[in-house]
Amino acid sequence: MDCLFCKIVDGEIPARKLYEDDQVIAFHDIAAQAPVHFLVIPKEHIATLHDLNDEHDKALAGHILLTAQRLATEQGCQDGFRVVMNCNDLGGQTVNHIHMHVLGQRQMHWPPG
Ligand code: C5P
Repeated sequence: MDCLFCKIVDGEIPARKLYEDDQVIAFHDIAAQAPVHFLVIPKEHIATLHDLNDEHDKALAGHILLTAQRLATEQGCQDGFRVVMNCNDLGGQTVNHIHMHVLGQRQMHWPPG
């Protein structure tokens, strides 16, 4: 399967890793949109949020969110941060392997683009 983020999981493509365990890895986004911008991804290939399965993936989805929260704190985002998950073309997803963006250390605005 030709998936960019699976290649990062497998170490075939380098990434600036922040964290790794048996289920997820987190790495700095290559095109940071904020002073803190990292991604939390499952090691398992799941293409989009539509592909998450209630029975199988509930614990994994929670683990992604709680990993994002813990790392955001470790990255100095105690005053606030934003998480984003883009889904499919209309949602702005460009890499078809689910990932949670975590952005911080600057003022965020609403609505997003
Ligand atoms: O949500 P979306 O699919 O658009 O986000 C993909 C993200 O993956 C982008 O922010 C892009 O900069 C990041 N990326 C990365 N390392 C790569 C390729 C893409 O951090 N090698």
